[in-house]
Amino acid sequence: MTVQNGSTTLRDAKRIVVKVGSSLVTNDGRGLDETAIGEWCRQMAVLVRARRELVMVSSGAIAEGMARLGWMKRPHEVHELQAAAAVGQMGLVQMYETKLRENGLRSAQVLLTHADLADRERYLNARSTLMSLLKLGVVPVINENDTVVNDEIKVGDNDTLGALVANLVEADALVILTDQPGMYTADPRRDPNAQLIHVAKAGDPVLETMAGGVGSDLGRGGMITKILAARRAAGSGASTVIAWGQEPDVLIRLTQGESIGTLLVAQTRKMQARKQWMTDHLQLRGSVTVDDGAVRKVRDEGKSLLPIGMTAVRGDFSRGDVIAIVDAQGVEMARGLTNYASAEARLICRKPSTEFERLLGYVAEPEMVHRDNLVLTR
Ligand code: GLU
Repeated sequence: MTVQNGSTTLRDAKRIVVKVGSSLVTNDGRGLDETAIGEWCRQMAVLVRARRELVMVSSGAIAEGMARLGWMKRPHEVHELQAAAAVGQMGLVQMYETKLRENGLRSAQVLLTHADLADRERYLNARSTLMSLLKLGVVPVINENDTVVNDEIKVGDNDTLGALVANLVEADALVILTDQPGMYTADPRRDPNAQLIHVAKAGDPVLETMAGGVGSDLGRGGMITKILAARRAAGSGASTVIAWGQEPDVLIRLTQGESIGTLLVAQTRKMQARKQWMTDHLQLRGSVTVDDGAVRKVRDEGKSLLPIGMTAVRGDFSRGDVIAIVDAQGVEMARGLTNYASAEARLICRKPSTEFERLLGYVAEPEMVHRDNLVLTR
């Protein structure tokens, strides 16, 4: 298998989502592993100080809840799982908060559900909150909001949630820390010839056949969910590493370019991936016409589109829809996700952001289309 730019992938990653699984976090269900969590937090602090942005996706709420409630076996009843998650999440975030603070970092709890990521407006809201946190140097600690979801509407496992978060924040890398050294060509517990895969292409179908099934009693993921998560993360241009969570300085060494565990390299670059997504999947719901100044800012300087540069609004669209940005001659120059619905856009067209509050009663964002959500089409 030929794979490009393996060793630079993590070294160049600026925004990294780290996912840790239940058995690591809770010491195989015995209770929160203070030392392990403290270690990851220390390493994250080193990376944040080196101007990287870190997001933690941590499992362990149900496992910790079970330990706190004295339950020896994972319950089958959904409401019991939800109760355990509610109890355990308290301890989990408390531990992250304490450990990150000891390392000089601030943290924020973010609980997401599938619905938050499937609905375009909530997606944008979650995205801008997470982006604001990252800009402030805060480490978001994310888990699924297990208390309010049942099996049908669940993301289900945090490997997938980690990938969805990597898509959401357009991370450069997803690091899945687990109790295995990485991915093997076969199950190493059964096959003595199993070999560790050092690097492969994310999304390569061969990996899925190698990975097989099964998770543990504590968490939901197995190797297959990690492989699928890597494929999903690659969709927005993020490469994935699967590595042993107890490996000394694992996060730091990965970002120094060391090869640890299994690296699954995304085959599309971030910008390309976003462009693809905008052009393939999304229907245009309307357009805004912009003046020459805005054309220059957006096209030549790579800036966001501000309402002050808009001269007309066409169509009926909602926040989060894709709209075209059209120049004064009526030629489409870009498209992107709008922060404002068409009715609001008509009110703030040609207006500076200082007037938004008076006109709308609130301010969502100063930009009509943020540069991160915009692709030039000409
Ligand atoms: N959200 C679940 C928890 O925190 C874990 C899901 C998983 O193990 O992947 O307990």
